[in-house]
Amino acid sequence: MPFLLTLFMSFQTLGLCDALLKAISKKGYTTPSPIQQKAIPKILDGRDVLASAQTGTGKTAGFTLPMLQQFLANPAQHQGRRKIKSLILTPTRELAAQVLDDVKTYSEFTDLKSTVVFGGVNANPQIKTLRQGVDILVATPGRLLDLHSQGVINFSGIQFLVLDEADRMLDMGFLRDIKRILALLPSKRQNLLFSATFSKEIKTLANSFLHNPAMVEAAPQNTTAEKVDQIIYRTNKGLKTALVIKLITEGNWNQVLVFTRTKHGANKLSQKLEKADIKAAAIHGNKSQGARTRALAGFKEGTISVLVATDIAARGLDIPLLPHVINFELPNIPEDYVHRIGRTGRAGASGKAISIVSVDEYAYARGIEKLLNIKLDSTIIPGFEPTESLHEVESKKAENKAAHNRGGRNTSRSQSNTSSQEGAKKRRKFRR
Ligand code: AMP
Repeated sequence: MPFLLTLFMSFQTLGLCDALLKAISKKGYTTPSPIQQKAIPKILDGRDVLASAQTGTGKTAGFTLPMLQQFLANPAQHQGRRKIKSLILTPTRELAAQVLDDVKTYSEFTDLKSTVVFGGVNANPQIKTLRQGVDILVATPGRLLDLHSQGVINFSGIQFLVLDEADRMLDMGFLRDIKRILALLPSKRQNLLFSATFSKEIKTLANSFLHNPAMVEAAPQNTTAEKVDQIIYRTNKGLKTALVIKLITEGNWNQVLVFTRTKHGANKLSQKLEKADIKAAAIHGNKSQGARTRALAGFKEGTISVLVATDIAARGLDIPLLPHVINFELPNIPEDYVHRIGRTGRAGASGKAISIVSVDEYAYARGIEKLLNIKLDSTIIPGFEPTESLHEVESKKAENKAAHNRGGRNTSRSQSNTSSQEGAKKRRKFRR
């Protein structure tokens, strides 16, 4: 699309009807985001779409608005109960709930009905709403299949399918469920696939059900938001927690998302932050839906300053305008770094992505630099100098692993040795 045309593009020129324009204006959007400018016309043309867009680009409105527009332009004559016309699949319950919120916001001035189904909560209220009839269903794959097998869901009216964050669905092992769902849907329908990254598996999946798709991209694939300042602080493994505490307290940061590689790591770090008087909560797959919702609500209201999350749990979180993201460990998959830092610098605001990196993660940093084709700034904070060699870190890891494999007989001793050594080192550093 010519540059000048995109500059002057408005929601009106995209051909959306008054009911949708009213909802958009109530939400305060003035200009469609790049992914919306590109995807909406293609979807309105009835094309299947393969879109490269990460969270924060406005992708949800990018597929919801034209879908609603299609339904409003061709209203269904439903005798009796409404049939589901659109199915939106998401990897996590948080994302599903967020997408439903958006669908409800954009359809506020229409008579279209929508609901969400996901696991981890009582199915009865979901079944009751489905029985009343809905036009748009947002779902996670497992619960959807469960309810279908109970005869609660009828797919025969589906005209529209969206796979949102398809890459994450595959990462979470949903490929088989997705294939089962695809086989249950009517073959004549419009299909949209949104993904932040494009592995071979995603391409194979896309080829299996998209028909001559229009390709749209929010930003060149695997490039990070321009407004995100990215920095690496090199230090020792055992000093990471203290460094995170220092950055958060001295910087007076009160809305921080910290990524850890494991659920256990997320719990541990969140407890240590709490001990340092920083209001923190961990959010990961082992937490109940209630605990996750409470943590997220607290974070949004400001009663929790730091959310410590694993990659998968963080995927569906909608937290606009997040100023700080910290990678407590670098992910071993470079694309995950792109997802993580996509949580900051959202909707045009500037953000900072900080990675706390120990010597054993330098190779991951190089992988990320290669993917993004940039050199990440790297620095050292006085008092937190990296002194460990790769050999030292690796042998400590091997020692812990061996202790663990011996049935944990020596684990506590070797761990307490390590942590007391680290603690002493930390105290020495602080005194400096
Ligand atoms: P998403 O990528 O769909 O998760 O959207 C990211 C954030 O951008 C959400 O908080 C949306 O409400 C917001 N958003 C979506 N479209 C626009 C727009 N055209 N202008 C401003 N904000 C938007």
